[in-house]
Amino acid sequence: MAAKHYRVFVGGSCVTEGAMSNVFLTAVLMGLLCLCLSAQQTGLSPRPHVQVRGIYGGMPASLMTDGKTLADHGVNAVWIHSGALNAEEIARIKQQGARVFAEFNTMHEAGYLKEHPDAAPIGPDGMVSPPPGGWQGICPTHPGYRAERMAAFRKILTDYDIDGIWLDYHHGHANWEQAQPELPDTCFCTRCLTQFQRDTRISLPEASTAEKATLLLGVYRAQWVQWRCDVFTSWVREFRAILNAVRPGALLGTFHCPWADVDYDGALRDKLAIDLKAQARYLDVFSIMPYHARFGHADDPEWISRQIAWLGRYLGVRGRPRERLKIWPIVQLADWGEKVPVAQVHTVLEHATRPPATGVMVFAWGGLQTQPEKVEAMAAFYRTIRPASAPRARPPRRPAGG
Ligand SMILES: [Zn+2]
Repeated sequence: MAAKHYRVFVGGSCVTEGAMSNVFLTAVLMGLLCLCLSAQQTGLSPRPHVQVRGIYGGMPASLMTDGKTLADHGVNAVWIHSGALNAEEIARIKQQGARVFAEFNTMHEAGYLKEHPDAAPIGPDGMVSPPPGGWQGICPTHPGYRAERMAAFRKILTDYDIDGIWLDYHHGHANWEQAQPELPDTCFCTRCLTQFQRDTRISLPEASTAEKATLLLGVYRAQWVQWRCDVFTSWVREFRAILNAVRPGALLGTFHCPWADVDYDGALRDKLAIDLKAQARYLDVFSIMPYHARFGHADDPEWISRQIAWLGRYLGVRGRPRERLKIWPIVQLADWGEKVPVAQVHTVLEHATRPPATGVMVFAWGGLQTQPEKVEAMAAFYRTIRPASAPRARPPRRPAGG
């Protein structure tokens, strides 16, 4: 890529300008050579297809000190956990020309179980399924839990002037955010088994939960998997309806597992109950989560662009302007499990911003802010890929206290 730019720049227009003096021509060529060497070093030029250059995980206050703005760091979007939203901070970010998105926890509100133990996922043995690695999921058919989450979702969209909201942990009870996932089969509670039979018109025999689970994971496996996927998709449909009613125009995104459909024997659907194509009817943005270091690809950052490319093919997303569905990956820069070296920041972001991706965000501000050298590497990348038309000048500063 860098060599190509070199040829384009030098071979483009300069040498045919006969009116130029030799001295001027030499100076221009030297200048272009410097530019091209710089481009070769970074391997980069603006990537106008990438409209969103984000940070996930909180208010990046330290990027807005000493008269600096988010735009000075190439950042134009911030993702903040729903519970940490604050109207003043949202206004401050927006005043800098950046967008604010909320992260919303759907199936991992573990505190709900304290007063509602009947919402705990049940395993194939009929017993409560322990939270794998501490990741507590919730039974997807518990009506009280669903009503509580929908009300919380509505309240966030009502109370805060946000540009969109992203579902998080919208999948079955599992621990997949590591190199070796833990994927228990759930939920075989009486409520789920009753609803499955009603929705599918399949009658299970009078038998123990364990015997019913054997049938559901055996002869009825295809119907069981599809029914579970449909339940999780129905949540997304309801989230969409609320968003359309309360804050139309805001984006609905999802942070989701980066596996392809065939990875881990089809666990995306079979275990996590994520039907990407069905959910795509109700979503605007898929934020695939290829945390390369955390997920066993520390030395293979190309895995990031491979998974993004797979998702694009699977969903039919090309990364073109005005395409309805968008892919904005969230990639790992903070150390979590495995470290991400400073020298790898450029490579990670380079893979994350190849089409069909049209946006990107980094995980996560909490850890990243303690490593300013990585923040600067991120900012250098973001500034370099920023389209020429993007705002660079600092906006007028508000009066103190204004
Ligand atoms: Zn259940």
